[in-house]
Amino acid sequence: MDSLTMTIRKQKNIALIAHDQKKHEMIDWCEAHKEILSRHFLCGTGTTARMITEATGLPVKGYNSGPLGGDQQIGAKIVEGKIDFVIFFSDPLTAQPHDPDVKALLRIAQVYDIPIANNKASADFMITSPYMDEEYEHEIINFHQNISERAKTL
Ligand code: PGA
Repeated sequence: MDSLTMTIRKQKNIALIAHDQKKHEMIDWCEAHKEILSRHFLCGTGTTARMITEATGLPVKGYNSGPLGGDQQIGAKIVEGKIDFVIFFSDPLTAQPHDPDVKALLRIAQVYDIPIANNKASADFMITSPYMDEEYEHEIINFHQNISERAKTL
């Protein structure tokens, strides 16, 4: 299948999401990397975004709360090319009412080859990568071509 080259710009659109038991870990992580984060555009699910802004002063645009569709909004922004980097401190020990939405977000990030960290160590490695200060080109499926081929062959 043909692919499209997409660019993750130097100034990244970063989504921040933390499940309830991970919110304080997320706030501490944002505080530790505040200087780097302040150079990018930040957004997040509603409660996470609010708590980060209140604790650190970083501007974080808030979508809906996760259980009320926030993860799906972030997934849709990935599809639109408006979010290109995700830090998602999910809780592996607690059942989530919006588990299907969480899985959908992980899947769509994988489809669009978006860097996504699910725990602090991965987030530490990602945020200190030299790519944080550079453009990064990556290949994604050419969706226009994909549609026209499917429309012809199915
Ligand atoms: P919240 O959503 O930031 O609104 O709590 C996060 C989530 O549970 O997905």
